[in-house]
Amino acid sequence: MSRRAPLVLMYHGVDHVPADRDPHAMFVTPQAFRDQVEHLLEEGFVPLSERAYVEGRCSGSLPPRSVLITFDDGYVGVGEHALPVLESFGVPSVLYVPAALVGGCSDWLEPRHRHPLMTGEELRSVDRRGMAVGAHGTDHQDLTRVSGGELRRQTTGARRALGELLGRPVTSFAFPFGSHDARVRTAVRDAGYDTAFAVHEAAGGFAVGRVDVNAIDTMRTFRLKLHRLYPRARRVSGRVPAVRRVVHDLLGRAPRDPGVELAGRAGAR
Ligand SMILES: [Zn+2]
Repeated sequence: MSRRAPLVLMYHGVDHVPADRDPHAMFVTPQAFRDQVEHLLEEGFVPLSERAYVEGRCSGSLPPRSVLITFDDGYVGVGEHALPVLESFGVPSVLYVPAALVGGCSDWLEPRHRHPLMTGEELRSVDRRGMAVGAHGTDHQDLTRVSGGELRRQTTGARRALGELLGRPVTSFAFPFGSHDARVRTAVRDAGYDTAFAVHEAAGGFAVGRVDVNAIDTMRTFRLKLHRLYPRARRVSGRVPAVRRVVHDLLGRAPRDPGVELAGRAGAR
């Protein structure tokens, strides 16, 4: 991937959550988030809005070292902690929410690991303030496992519901769990979205890869993740788990509030 292609970062929560309530390490602290945004700007990254990203990709006119900041799920802390930081720097972002869980909680997780999601009013507010709202299915299911009718509900239905909530067309989509296949990508395109985001498994403009930023990142690992070769290096090390453990041990992990031993992140998105 050339750095002409924008860097797309994927966050989940930004809040103070102890490790035993966040075994998937999804919640970055507000201070870590501020430090990361400051670092991006100091390094000369050009933050993109959702619209600038979509239009620039189509026309091939994006500036070098551009970055799109995305958040999945719609946790309340993202509006309370991340948005004020982004506003203070004039940095736009995108927030992907499950359309049927607005005002609910992350009920696809175990009960004690669930966290509240923004209400419709909160989503309208963040959308107006530069955090564009996009779709993350309706109720956070793995879309590769649902029937055709259900897939339409998760894509077309989610777009309609969020469009009515926001009073504007919804233009981008993020796959729950980062999970997609050709049938799912086609359904998202047919539903009228302009683009869709995956995580590590990229496949063209309707499964754009993103770099996951999480609670165990230090500034050192965050800086590494900004490197244009990081996605490729991660794919290689992902095939050899022992290599990933050694790399993490060398680079260190961010300290967290005490709790249970950290589990793997798979399955939480
Ligand atoms: Zn998610």
